[in-house]
Amino acid sequence: MGAAAAREMTAERLAHALEQGDVVVHYQPCYDLRTGEMVAVEALARVYDAESDELLQPAAFLEVLEQSGLVVHLDEMVLALAARQVAAWRRLPAGRRLCLAINLSPADLDDPLLPVRFREATEAAGLPMDAIIVELTETLLSETGRGHEQVLAELSAMGCNVTLDDFGTGNASFDYLRRFHVDGVKIDRSFVQYLGTGGRRDRMSESLVRFCLSLGVHVVAEGIERPQHVAVLRRLGCPFGQGFLMSRPLPAAELDELLASDVVPAALRHDEEAVVL
Ligand code: C2E
Ligand code: MG
Ligand code: MG
Ligand code: MG
Repeated sequence: MGAAAAREMTAERLAHALEQGDVVVHYQPCYDLRTGEMVAVEALARVYDAESDELLQPAAFLEVLEQSGLVVHLDEMVLALAARQVAAWRRLPAGRRLCLAINLSPADLDDPLLPVRFREATEAAGLPMDAIIVELTETLLSETGRGHEQVLAELSAMGCNVTLDDFGTGNASFDYLRRFHVDGVKIDRSFVQYLGTGGRRDRMSESLVRFCLSLGVHVVAEGIERPQHVAVLRRLGCPFGQGFLMSRPLPAAELDELLASDVVPAALRHDEEAVVL
């Protein structure tokens, strides 16, 4: 079977899964690195494939869904599910100020009614717009036209935090900062992983963190895997962070438990710092 045929079949299977509503959202916590408080969760889509009885990760379906345009339906479902879920978590003491980060694909921004759809979904869920973080990748913005700028400006005006995801990986990061209104940047894992390692890439990563902080926007470090990453980010004054060291993306039920226990993750406890440094 050729590559095109293989993709076709996958697209069909995916379309079927979406029709069945076999979309599951996992949530990865984002923390205030200073206090250890959970401040947001990022919604990460998973698709259940009945044929293989597997929960597929984005690497297995995102490209196909983007090519077929079906990603718009996926993202609509993710927003609806996640907005209701986060609205419920905000009724818990530990979730009072929890924000929801949503990833968007290029096709989402092609729809001039996207801001309206966001407003409808959040209103139906009882979630304020200023609890929404919209994450955009640079590859997404490289395809952008004027319409996209308009949509992003509207979302931002409505109170959403518009964040550049995977910051530093595209070769036009700086250009986007100049061209678009952004409320936040998420420093890519490929930089975070070198923090505290010594050498040239470590220095580049530190410089990137400092640069992002100098912009006066929300700065999140993603892909934190080692205690030394936390130590360096704290020293530099990076306020927010996300990564496997604190928590992997979790099914809603597991995040329920995490919020109910309301404990600072071990990696962010200040009494651990003596060990960390
Ligand atoms: P992203 O937005 O940059 O999300 C972070 C990805 O890195 C997630 O992979 C997450 O599981 C993983 N990750 C988080 N912390 C760590 C860490 O400490 N170490 C390592 N090695 N990885 C970490 P995932 O869930 O496979 O998502 C991949 C990408 O798919 C996302 O990258 C995002 O661009 C896209 N995506 C996910 N969900 C959606 C969605 O609902 N809609 C759209 N349009 N795109 C989505
Ligand atoms: Mg993201
Ligand atoms: Mg990212
Ligand atoms: Mg990414």
